[in-house]
Amino acid sequence: MAEYILIVDDDANIRQQLSEYIDLSGYISSTAADAEEAINLLKNKKYDVVITDIKMPGMDGLALTDTIKKRYASDIIVITGYSENYSYEEAVKKGASDFVFKPVRLEELLLRLKRVLRERQLRKHRNHILEKLQKLAITDGLTKLHNSRHFYYAIELEIDRSKRYNHPLGLLLLDIDNFKQYNDSYGHLEGDKVLATMGRTIKSLLRTMDSAYRYGGEEFTIILPETNIAEAETVGQRIRTAIKSVQLFPVPGKPVSITISVGVTQYSPQETVSSFVQRADRAMYISKQHGKNLVTALLSDQADNQI
Ligand code: GH3
Ligand code: MG
Ligand code: MG
Repeated sequence: MAEYILIVDDDANIRQQLSEYIDLSGYISSTAADAEEAINLLKNKKYDVVITDIKMPGMDGLALTDTIKKRYASDIIVITGYSENYSYEEAVKKGASDFVFKPVRLEELLLRLKRVLRERQLRKHRNHILEKLQKLAITDGLTKLHNSRHFYYAIELEIDRSKRYNHPLGLLLLDIDNFKQYNDSYGHLEGDKVLATMGRTIKSLLRTMDSAYRYGGEEFTIILPETNIAEAETVGQRIRTAIKSVQLFPVPGKPVSITISVGVTQYSPQETVSSFVQRADRAMYISKQHGKNLVTALLSDQADNQI
């Protein structure tokens, strides 16, 4: 991939000399005569590295370094004279990756540029791996939904938000009906396929704000921000219907389907996470007791006389 270098210097000869050398070395360079011009270029294009003179009329190289570090992702190499009042330490403090002294020795500049680019590449690679790991740590491998550990983290956050803005917060708890029997009839591997299908089906029905979790073996939770109990019940019905209509083929040519029992509730101000989740669980259990393949909604003040 091509690497883009921006050279900033008020001296036209230096600009041209550096630019030619850098292009010859296999990079693509642009030039700017002052910091303002450099910032305009940065607004429109990504540069991997900015090589800037420190002493320039108008905004100097230190202020430019500061601005780039705050707003852009480029690395910076500063050029400074021995006799100038600027110190490279200041530039490094502002976030410059390296510095070279004037008069610039081109071979040395190239070595430093290569090192900065290599470190930049390693940093990108490391960040990419970190992101992947972070995602893995909160994802359930089988269903590709979030895992239960992440559920408790997310629900605390959503409860805080719901309290702060006084907005409703809905919660669904889903449990596959007669799943033990499915496993017994078709084998554990076929059961796993059902869980993966559940994950995909649930995901396809959610809004971007909503999040779904594999809460336990064959139990799922769905957090519905900005959603009251009536709306949450509608979502529950939609998911129940969708799951029921999915055709599964544990035995080729013989479609079967599964059903789920759903519990629905809404957060009640001041209650604890566990009382909130337990109510969704009780509502789900009522669906089981009433014959399964049902959605039951339970508000907090109803909780005691419903069971
Ligand atoms: P109910 O309608 O009352 O929910 O009955 P059920 O059989 O679904 O519930 P029960 O709690 O008796 O059994 C749950 C089953 O879910 C038993 C277990 O083997 C199965 N299960 C849990 N996790 C997994 C999994 O990761 N893969 C597979 N294939 N099965 C699982
Ligand atoms: Mg100068
Ligand atoms: Mg079950």
